[in-house]
Amino acid sequence: MSEEQTCQRCGETVELEAEDFELFERMHPDCFHFAFEHDLNKPGLSAEENCGDEACPVGA
Ligand SMILES: [Zn+2]
Ligand SMILES: [Zn+2]
Repeated sequence: MSEEQTCQRCGETVELEAEDFELFERMHPDCFHFAFEHDLNKPGLSAEENCGDEACPVGA
């Protein structure tokens, strides 16, 4: 095993292939979504609300 992968956003361990981890800018997929995609269409949207993206972890 390689060294532990730590999320740049929340600081928790990320259980992903190293390749995927790099792909998500060294974050969880969900953290990546909140960092870059969540409020793209609705600036200022809170993390409690679904943004309409099918990848959004909120609500569903
Ligand atoms: Zn995270
Ligand atoms: Zn979202």
